Amino acid sequence: MERKLVSPVVIDDIQPIAGADLIEVATVKGWKLVVKKNEFKVGDHAVYCEIDSFLPVREEFEFLRKSSYRKMGEQEGFRLKTMKLRGQISQGLLLPVSLLQGYTYQIGEDVSARLGIIKYEPPMPAALGGIAKGLFPSFMLKTDEERIQNLSGQYEAFRQHTFYVTEKLDGSSVTFYLNEGVFGVCSRNLDLEETADNSFWKVARAERIEEKLASLGKNIAIQGELIGEGVQGNAYGLRGQTVRFFNAFDIDRYEYLALDEFKAFIASLALQTVPILDLQYTLPASLDELLTMADGVSVLSPQGKAVEREGLVIRSTDRKISFKVISNKFLLNER
Ligand code: ATP
Ligand code: MN
Ligand code: MN
Repeated sequence: MERKLVSPVVIDDIQPIAGADLIEVATVKGWKLVVKKNEFKVGDHAVYCEIDSFLPVREEFEFLRKSSYRKMGEQEGFRLKTMKLRGQISQGLLLPVSLLQGYTYQIGEDVSARLGIIKYEPPMPAALGGIAKGLFPSFMLKTDEERIQNLSGQYEAFRQHTFYVTEKLDGSSVTFYLNEGVFGVCSRNLDLEETADNSFWKVARAERIEEKLASLGKNIAIQGELIGEGVQGNAYGLRGQTVRFFNAFDIDRYEYLALDEFKAFIASLALQTVPILDLQYTLPASLDELLTMADGVSVLSPQGKAVEREGLVIRSTDRKISFKVISNKFLLNER
């Protein structure tokens, strides 16, 4: 599902910030953000822009220039990042609904296009791009995870479930499939042509993935995170590149393998899963506590260096619930 970056919301709460006279902290779903004092009241409607929103250069947004001006390729704009003000985490931006100029909006609908707001995407190295053979095939599902802050309404219900927790790796999504005898390699959104300089294909060949999948004699896909040199700054300090798997998909049944089956399957192919941190996890009483838990040192930290992990991916044992909890410490360090 495409991310809803900008939508009308109801402000759930407003609280003072200790020692601050001019600002206060608003709660919107599971998000907290700093606002000017008295600009909004609890129950007000406003337009909420999530982190990673890239706002166009327009008079109304000039107040963002100092904190957020950024170029994305040739395009100028204002990029919303996680910030800390007076010790308070602030994620996103609330704008008055008057900006929608009388448009009859619905709470929660995506209004990014109306405001010319797009998603900020960091530049991608050529080796992770590649030549498209086609779009991502429809016989399987794309990788994605919703942010827990957008599921806060379900948090209490989630507390009844048992989850498994994996470390979220900061790399690039890759899918390998074998379908009707055809082996393919996909990046996040594309089915890729095999070329000598494409990182996803290189890893496929180095790890002999086509041979491994072909030996099974069925239609199957495995999905993981490509990490290493040239990928997202290679915080893990790896030499070369490798892939850690988080999904196996049965194409004929059109469904993911359950956890036990998945683990056994990846092991049987002599491949590695993402780090599994807990197999019997229940959620803490509050979302705030869960966000604190997401901060931590990556299992993949190189010798003698503590790398801040990106966060966690948490899934119910039956896999029906799945979400990501990105570490705020990680986000605060993000460029
Ligand atoms: P957003 O939509 O929030 O802007 P995004 O969807 O582009 O971001 P991510 O924030 O990286 O990407 O979150 C989803 C991705 O996380 C998945 O597509 C997958 O590639 C990656 N990922 C890394 N580690 C894991 C893991 N342990 N379990 C599941 N997915 C993982
Ligand atoms: Mn996403
Ligand atoms: Mn990612």
